[in-house]
Amino acid sequence: QSDEKRGVIKFFEEAMAQEASERLLLEMNLRTGVISGQFELYFQPKVNASSGKLKGFEGLMRWNHPERGLVPPLDFIPLAESTGIIIDLEEWAFVTACRQLKRWHERGDRYELALNLSARHFLSEGVVEKFAQIAREEGVSTSYLTLEITESVGMENQQHVIDRFVAFREEGFSISIDDFGTGFSAFVYLKHYPIHEIKIDRQFIQVTENDPTGNVIVESIVDLARGLNLKTVCEGVETLEQWNALRELGCDEMQGYYFSRPLPLEELETWIVDYTT
Ligand code: C2E
Ligand code: CA
Ligand code: CA
Ligand code: CA
Repeated sequence: QSDEKRGVIKFFEEAMAQEASERLLLEMNLRTGVISGQFELYFQPKVNASSGKLKGFEGLMRWNHPERGLVPPLDFIPLAESTGIIIDLEEWAFVTACRQLKRWHERGDRYELALNLSARHFLSEGVVEKFAQIAREEGVSTSYLTLEITESVGMENQQHVIDRFVAFREEGFSISIDDFGTGFSAFVYLKHYPIHEIKIDRQFIQVTENDPTGNVIVESIVDLARGLNLKTVCEGVETLEQWNALRELGCDEMQGYYFSRPLPLEELETWIVDYTT
């Protein structure tokens, strides 16, 4: 081997080692973070499309790392998924969400709450019983809870996946297909799985202003959903024009920066007062 070649190999080896150790460090940080309460649940409002009435929220995870600062979910969810830490994190998020929901309900605000559930957690042993039990212990009805899953949960019509959907439904949870239209298995879902809601991905929403083909896609999804008796939620609504266009197309609920960004609880309470009075 030439010196030059050896140098190149060494360079890649070092780069790979560095990446691996950064990953390891992040993984250690994640585990510490779970234990020492560095995670926080933010909430983003969802409103009824025709009335604008506040329906509830989607809970979104945030990581307040002492040195790294606020780490966005896309920077830690994939690692949390591949290491399995996501199961602890989502369990924590679920308990936190149920407690908050209970507080809202006690003061007379019958909000709904949606949470993201990773494929790994959705397919894990005993998850339905675990969630049902937590809801029971926290004193909230599962009929106010929606679990958002992505199409990656199951590409095929597999019996154990179908059973899982059915079990969640029997416990009273609603299931939403998140980022609808971005996977390849959208229609498999509609045919085989008992779901309640489709969440249209924001890439289809954000073209609606000047792009007539964008409208055609949203309109087809909405028509399809209506034919199947499914609720449609549009995410990523950023302007009044988009809201109007999407309402015209018949979408049921809206979520996006136009209404609010995901907020920590305290700011959310201020937003709620402001929005509803
Ligand atoms: P998602 O479930 O599709 O959540 C919507 C994302 O879009 C959120 O990003 C939200 O802040 C952002 N968003 C909302 N409205 C708008 C808008 O009007 N314009 C634009 N450009 N963006 C908007 P966020 O909070 O950074 O979360 C990113 C992703 O992280 C989520 O995407 C979800 O896949 C994942 N995630 C967050 N929490 C959890 C969790 O507890 N479990 C799992 N498995 N994934 C989670
Ligand atoms: Ca979601
Ligand atoms: Ca989404
Ligand atoms: Ca106001």
